[in-house]
Amino acid sequence: MRPCNLPSAAVATHQGGTPPERWEPLGVHIRWRYANDLGALTIVYTAETNCALYAVACLGCPYRATGTAGLSQEEAVAAANEHATTCRSLPLPLPAGLDEAEAYDLLLERLRQMQEFETQPVSVATFLADRLDLQGDDDYIREILALIATEHPDLLGMTTRESISGWAMFQLQPQLPESAPA
Ligand SMILES: [Zn+2]
Repeated sequence: MRPCNLPSAAVATHQGGTPPERWEPLGVHIRWRYANDLGALTIVYTAETNCALYAVACLGCPYRATGTAGLSQEEAVAAANEHATTCRSLPLPLPAGLDEAEAYDLLLERLRQMQEFETQPVSVATFLADRLDLQGDDDYIREILALIATEHPDLLGMTTRESISGWAMFQLQPQLPESAPA
């Protein structure tokens, strides 16, 4: 995978006093910011890895856009521009971020929703839409996935066979058919 030659995320990740225009939570690279007339920002961001996939989020209202598996740069920029032009929300406090137990519950819920529709490899890039809430780097998300795979092997499989990248690989398990009534 092409490395993400993006500015370092050394910008403060703490909320205390961080102005929204400099806010960049851990594991997220904010590429563009658009402001609506009332000052609420709509951001275009990528994750720590897979920087070719973009997502859009408004920091004033619940609007978020990621497509089914991330947006292209052009799609994301167009969506953010359009949203910032029409959004009438005032700025909200910056997302607080989840603690580890809450992050575990969020990923568990996401995986259960996904399992209803498909069986597919799962990677840190799968959770692009949740990055503003997770506020953690890729290793942190992998640790949570490994914990879920250990505690819910019927939901998420984990191979410790090392991939090229050296990380464990995760795979959603097929949903078991409903047991037939007696
Ligand atoms: Zn908005």
